Amino acid sequence: MKRRTFLLASAATTASMLAGCKRQEVHSFSVSKRRKITLKLATSWPANFPIMGEGVEEFAKRVYEASDGEVQIKVFAKNLLVPALQVFDACSAGQIDAFHSGPYYWKGKNPAFALFGGFPFGFTSNEMNAWMLYGGGLELWRELYGKYNLYPLLGGNTDVQMGGWFRKEIKSLKDLKGLKMRIPGLGGEVMAKLGVNAILLAAGEIYTALDRGTIDATEWVGPALDIKMGFYKVAKYYYSGFHEPGSVLELTFNKKRWESLPKDIQTLITSCANEMNAKMVYNFQAKNAEALKKLKTLGVQLRKWPEEIVQAAQKALFEVIHEQSAKSADFKRVWQNIEPFWMENRAWTSLGLKNYLEMRDG
Ligand code: CA
Repeated sequence: MKRRTFLLASAATTASMLAGCKRQEVHSFSVSKRRKITLKLATSWPANFPIMGEGVEEFAKRVYEASDGEVQIKVFAKNLLVPALQVFDACSAGQIDAFHSGPYYWKGKNPAFALFGGFPFGFTSNEMNAWMLYGGGLELWRELYGKYNLYPLLGGNTDVQMGGWFRKEIKSLKDLKGLKMRIPGLGGEVMAKLGVNAILLAAGEIYTALDRGTIDATEWVGPALDIKMGFYKVAKYYYSGFHEPGSVLELTFNKKRWESLPKDIQTLITSCANEMNAKMVYNFQAKNAEALKKLKTLGVQLRKWPEEIVQAAQKALFEVIHEQSAKSADFKRVWQNIEPFWMENRAWTSLGLKNYLEMRDG
């Protein structure tokens, strides 16, 4: 095993150096005891889940390598230690040290948590990271999760998601009335205001429900993950989306456990999490592009929402925000932090990126 040697100038030496004096005495000692830290991390994803699961596996490997083997993070796919949607409670109680999941799953605990995941027509992945790191988002998130003995780090972003797969083409608002669609979160609440029957279904049940016509539509993520679900075989119309423009994934620790970790290890884990956070967006970008090319050869019909629906959905979003703010002081507070940052950043995104993209459409 490698031994680390540290050199320390003694206080006396420092004093003599400050006095502009003579020769330096240097004491040396070596650290022979290596720390061994093992952390149990549960995810909400199945084993070998592309991009998101891959990202957290790579994160654990990077922490191990960067700590020269001192920190081992054991990653458990969903249901191996705890069910997918119980990771929050298990981590809060200290049964696991950390989890990788998405904050909108926990809106039942506090409606404000949904906003840390994103919102319809909201932040792009770039804008979301800007808010989290430079707009006060992460501090607010840590404060509210702190009440549950949890400490979140950024754990990735899905980047812009597709609006979903529809068995029939949607030409007007009228076509949405009574339509049964699998769509969770704030996006589901917005669609419900447009007359959609927004329902939740476990991942393993969606394909069969769509195939049998038990549901008329579903959203999932984007081309890279959707193609693996096979939705294109049973629903040909694939819509661009507004409901999840940059959904956040979290790498959350039990707060007491986090605080017990040495400072250098906290820094190392935070750096590796930031790396995962950034690389996941690049991975989604590359894999979505590749899968889109393939989907085009499989007879998929790409569509944009009619303007009538976009307008109605924007109006519905503000109704949802208003209702949630009236019900939850935390939601209201987080929204009041988000809104000015969102407006200011969108003005820049529109002037810079949006205008640029419109100069050359793919
Ligand atoms: Ca989704």
